[in-house]
Amino acid sequence: MKKIAVFPGDGIGPEITAAACGVLETVAELAGMEIDLQQGLVGGAALDVHGDPLPDESLQLALGADAVLLGAVGGPKWDGHPPRQRPEQGLLRLRKGLDLYANLRPAQIFPQLLDASPLRPELVRDVDILVVRELTGDIYFGTPRGVEIQNGLRRGYNTMVYDENEIGRIARAAFEAARGRKRKVCSVDKANVLETTRLWREVVTEVAGEFPDVALEHMYVDNAAMQLIRCPAQFDVILTGNMFGDILSDEASQLTGSIGMLPSASLGNGRGMYEPIHGSAPDIAGRDLANPLATVLSVSMMLRHSLAAAVWADRVEDAVRAVLDRGLRTADIASPGVASIGTRAMGESVVAALQQGEWA
Ligand code: NAD
Repeated sequence: MKKIAVFPGDGIGPEITAAACGVLETVAELAGMEIDLQQGLVGGAALDVHGDPLPDESLQLALGADAVLLGAVGGPKWDGHPPRQRPEQGLLRLRKGLDLYANLRPAQIFPQLLDASPLRPELVRDVDILVVRELTGDIYFGTPRGVEIQNGLRRGYNTMVYDENEIGRIARAAFEAARGRKRKVCSVDKANVLETTRLWREVVTEVAGEFPDVALEHMYVDNAAMQLIRCPAQFDVILTGNMFGDILSDEASQLTGSIGMLPSASLGNGRGMYEPIHGSAPDIAGRDLANPLATVLSVSMMLRHSLAAAVWADRVEDAVRAVLDRGLRTADIASPGVASIGTRAMGESVVAALQQGEWA
C-alpha cells in the first residue's frame, strides 16, 4: 500500500488536485496498485483552521507518506499577514521538513501547443529540458547574511556556500535523471569568478566519473541564459545551484509559453513532493477554469520517481498528448476564438484516455 499525502492548498489548488487525484486513482486501478490518498491542510487553508500555515499534523502526514502531491498556496486574503504567518511559509517549511534538496523541473514542448511559445516554432520544436536545481543550500541559506551600517553607509551581504557533499548529491541526482533521458548533463556555474562554483565544477567532474555513460559539459551561467534563448534544443539535463537554478528554471519554463502545463518534483533522501510550477491563481479560483494538466503531469513524475511505475508515468503523458491531439483545451492554452473546456472536463478526458488505453 502506497500512502500519498495530498495538500490541495488555496485558490485553484483544490480543483487541480481533485482532477490529478482522479488520474492517479485511475492509474492505480488499471495498474493494480494499492494507494491510500490522505488529505491535509497547508498554506492559507491551514492558517484559517489552525493559525499556522504548516500545522504539525500536516508535517507528520507528509513525513509518513510515500509521496506528497501539492496544489498551490497563497492568495490576497493572507497578503497582509506578517511574514511567518504567510501561506508560502507553509510550503517552504514543508520542503525543508522533508529535506527535499533536488528540484526537477522539466520544460517540454507539446507540439500541439507550439504556438504558445514566445520563441519561433523552429527554435522550440525539439525542446525537452530537465532543470535539476539544488534546493536547500547556496546563497539563499548561507550565513553570515544581513544589512548593517558600516562607516555611515548601509551595507548588505549574503554568503554563497556549498560543501562537497551537497554538490555531490545533487550532481548524482542529475546524472541519474540523465540516464533515463538523452544522457547529457550541462552543469552551470560561474567558475571564472566565484570560488564556491569552482568547487562545484570540481566535484561535478569527480561525480561524472561514476557515470561514464553520461556526457558532461560545463557552461557559465551568463552563457547558459543566452543559449536557452538562442538554441534551447541543445540541452538535455541542466544541473545547477539554488540561485542560478531559480532563474534558469523560470527562463526555461517560459520557452513552453504555458504555465498551466508545467510540473515539478522535489526529491531528497527517498522522499518526493510533486506540484505544478504555477501559483494558486486567485483570479480564476473556484470557476472551473484552471488547467489541471501541470498537476496531472506532476502525478506522472510521482509515478516515475516515488512509485516505481515509470511505464505508467509514460502512459499518463501519452494520455495528455492524446487529449491535446483531440483539440481539447482549457482557456489558458486555447487559441483565440476556439472553444475551451473546464478543469473537471479536462481531468475526466485524461482519465478516459487512460481507460481507453490511448498510449503509444
Ligand atoms: P500564479 O501562477 O498563481 O498566476 C499567474 C497567472 O497565470 C494568473 O493569470 C493565473 O490565472 C494564471 N494561471 C496560473 N496557473 C494556471 C492554471 N493552472 N490554469 C490557468 N491559468 C493559470 O501567480 P501569481 O498570480 O503571481 O500568484 C498568485 C498566488 O499564488 C500568490 O499568493 C503567490 O504567492 C502564490 N504562488 C504560489 C506558488 C506555489 O504554491 N508553489 C507559486 C507561485 C505563486
